[in-house]
Amino acid sequence: MRSIYETPDRKVFQQTIAKFVASEITPYVDEWDEAGEIPWELHAKAGALGIYGLGIDEAYGGLGFDDCFMRVIIGVEVARCGAGGVGAALGGCNIMTGPLQALASEEIKRKTLPAIMAGREGGALCITEPSGGSDVANMETHAVRDGDDFVINGSKTFITGGMRAKHFVVGARTGGPGLDGISLFYVEKGAPGFTQTALAKKMGWWASDTATLYFEDVRVPASDMIGQENMGFLAIMNNFNLERVGLIATALGCSKLCLSESIRYAQERHTFGKPLIKHQVIRHKIAEMSSRIDALETYLNQIAWMVNEDEMPVAEICKAKFFGTQVYEYCAREALQIFGGAGYLRGTPVERLYREVRVVAIGGGSEEIMRDLAVRQMGL
Ligand SMILES: Cc1cc2nc3c(=O)[nH]c(=O)nc-3n(C[C@H](O)[C@H](O)[C@H](O)COP(=O)(O)OP(=O)(O)OC[C@H]3O[C@@H](n4cnc5c(N)ncnc54)[C@H](O)[C@@H]3O)c2cc1C
Repeated sequence: MRSIYETPDRKVFQQTIAKFVASEITPYVDEWDEAGEIPWELHAKAGALGIYGLGIDEAYGGLGFDDCFMRVIIGVEVARCGAGGVGAALGGCNIMTGPLQALASEEIKRKTLPAIMAGREGGALCITEPSGGSDVANMETHAVRDGDDFVINGSKTFITGGMRAKHFVVGARTGGPGLDGISLFYVEKGAPGFTQTALAKKMGWWASDTATLYFEDVRVPASDMIGQENMGFLAIMNNFNLERVGLIATALGCSKLCLSESIRYAQERHTFGKPLIKHQVIRHKIAEMSSRIDALETYLNQIAWMVNEDEMPVAEICKAKFFGTQVYEYCAREALQIFGGAGYLRGTPVERLYREVRVVAIGGGSEEIMRDLAVRQMGL
């Protein structure tokens, strides 16, 4: 569907990312997914195209401007490679550069952002803990002031990029209980007492490493606090908004791939003497998928416009996140059904798309939490 928000710059950006994904990523996703990682060189290629640079100053290697429509383009086009783990491995650092740009000291920015922008080094955002990810205000990892340092103890889990990243943004309790006692810290891989273990094989997102991180008396200088002391919860919540926009775009891109794969297969496959696409039941599945995708795309475009206007639409982002997951879930189900038994076999994109739906409904704020937050935003 043509968007009223399309501009020549956005069109060129979309075509550039789409070409990069089609030529440099899609042909290799099966191999990388089975291997459990992507080649690191891919980060440099993505960096050169500006995939990490939106919202980051040029002084730190960023693009020097932001455009939520371009954020959506990245999410949609990378998702079209058909392997969520490749997208997470490639772009996972995008959820931690925002707090660095907005809140970190000049020294930390210079140390981290240019290397991440260029794709030389990776970054990870560490909020979720073994005791839970939804209840951020009750995180247990803590940092205690000791002279000019803070000493961090605790653990984080489900951290995307946790094994391969060099730079970590970590939430930790510096004050009393609840949301008023949380701060953010910069921690570098190799810091004494900071260790990582890879999580066991996941249901999907195989190409993306996911780790549990342990902090045992990890000492960081007080200047490595990101933002103000005890104001970390607000920073985490603000950061979630754009992470969720990225996940909605991922759901949209995956849904579009379900549709295009369904159409391709339904044109090739014959049953009862005619192509599947000529059977009315299948045509109705295609129509239904397409209509839900249009609704999601329109919704997301409206959100992107509001973000660009500096009106962060928190409630709409929450609603679009669970709505987008439902669209993706429906499209994956119908796509696999159109493929029949072939869709049940490893090696068809729809098999992976179907398997990877749940993580979009859980990561970055689960469906239940999104509904709860949306209703709270409505003042209820
Ligand atoms: C592949 C993957 C990658 C991830 N990457 C990262 C990352 O890079 N960084 C990071 O910090 N985290 C990451 N996460 C963690 C993710 O954000 C959390 O899994 C998510 O926030 C949910 O937390 P939880 O799994 O601890 O579930 P819990 O918080 O334990 O919740 C369990 C279930 O209960 C529901 N629930 C919880 N509270 C309520 C309530 N009040 N009312 C109704 N239902 C409720 C939840 O919706 C969920 O369905 C990742 C997760 C996955 C699976």
